[in-house]
Amino acid sequence: CLSAIEAGNDALKAYLVVTADKALEQAKKSDERLAANAKDARALEGIPLGIKDLFCTDGVRTTAGSHILGNFEPPYESTVTQNLWDAGAVMLGKLNMDEFAMGSSTETSYYGQTVNPWRAKDSDENLVPGGSSGGSSSAVAAGLCLGATASDTGGSIRQPAAFTGTVGIKPTYGRCSRYGMVAFASSLDQAGPITRSIKDAALMLQAMASYDLKDSTSVDRPLPDLEKALTQKFKGLKIGVPKEYRVDGMSKEIEALWEKGIDIYRQAGAEIVDISLPHTKAALPAYYIVAPAEASSNLARYDGVRYGLRADGRDIVDMYEETRSHGFGAEVKRRILIGTYVLSAGYYDAYYLKAQKVRSLIKRDFDDAFETVDVVLTPTTPTPAFGLGSKKDADPVEMYLNDIFTVTVNMAGLPGLSVPGGLSAEGLPLGLQLIGKPFDEATVLRAGQVIE
Ligand code: GLN
Repeated sequence: CLSAIEAGNDALKAYLVVTADKALEQAKKSDERLAANAKDARALEGIPLGIKDLFCTDGVRTTAGSHILGNFEPPYESTVTQNLWDAGAVMLGKLNMDEFAMGSSTETSYYGQTVNPWRAKDSDENLVPGGSSGGSSSAVAAGLCLGATASDTGGSIRQPAAFTGTVGIKPTYGRCSRYGMVAFASSLDQAGPITRSIKDAALMLQAMASYDLKDSTSVDRPLPDLEKALTQKFKGLKIGVPKEYRVDGMSKEIEALWEKGIDIYRQAGAEIVDISLPHTKAALPAYYIVAPAEASSNLARYDGVRYGLRADGRDIVDMYEETRSHGFGAEVKRRILIGTYVLSAGYYDAYYLKAQKVRSLIKRDFDDAFETVDVVLTPTTPTPAFGLGSKKDADPVEMYLNDIFTVTVNMAGLPGLSVPGGLSAEGLPLGLQLIGKPFDEATVLRAGQVIE
């Protein structure tokens, strides 16, 4: 992996920092453990992983893609990464991402643009790797690591996985501890893996997940043996197909992908059930109220006093202003403005409270659907990967529309998987999404294997 990074990272710009010394040190320890007693091998013994740059890593710079954290070296380790090292994994370095995980293309990073290793047929145009976990998806797709951590607030694990032909799973809210993850929207954020196969995703998630007293939203519920769950018989599963996801203007190729997925399940002996999730249409607008509201509150901590960038100022208020003006990029400022607005007196009821009510309705839709089906099947994204820079200066809403199929899952706190489903006419990867019942990652992964 280190040689692959050496050869490929200049072109892809997936890694912001390569921690070769740490990798070799951890790998050596793995070798020693194996030499002492091979039977003591841990679950991820010696497996080299990349880490999205919003997981705090002790003594290793953690920027969350932001200028404001440009000099931040956390004095502690996130629970998810600690769990991985405890399982014997090896850290290769930190991976690029949209600033504070706000975006769908990794273009809002302060540290430059990550490139998707895929190209459309007969084209040499650089494509985005998706976002916000674009460093993770690009690195996994190009073999610059065997798996990567990622995080998903509205699709940031699943959409980059779909754009790069990789597997990504966002577990149920509460499955992985958020301790030591730089917060975007705390009621939606979840960690998960991006990998090359479902089996790898199962192995990695098994190690990442834990009940953690350091995160008050972490849930004390044992995770079944996911690797074993993959070997269970598939027949008899009920797959829900929600009609509301057939959105206006859905491209023919995405429709065909979805049909192909349905067909594969039918042939595998699954029962296909038409279902209705009536509030789907309101999910995206509600997400873009709830997520910025929480972000505006979470990002208040970057004041130039406690850590991170500090700009000069005449007095303390001026220092706050200068620090935040220089430290945050345009998309982050936009979210802070939206969030502050929807939380302000006089608008709170009309926007924030209303969005929270919509959120309850979305959750209820899924609860009803899961009375009759085991998993829900949809496309992951409305299009394949787009050109780098092609949407950057467009109306921001155009970028937000990318999240149309993924945000419902975060709003309802459910597990969601993106699995490669085929190629577009131009030869680019497309993803199918499987959504499961709360804490039923096992069935989601098992169902995903049928497509894989
Ligand atoms: N693209 C969405 C956003 O910009 C989701 C990002 C994420 O999941 N972190 O908010």
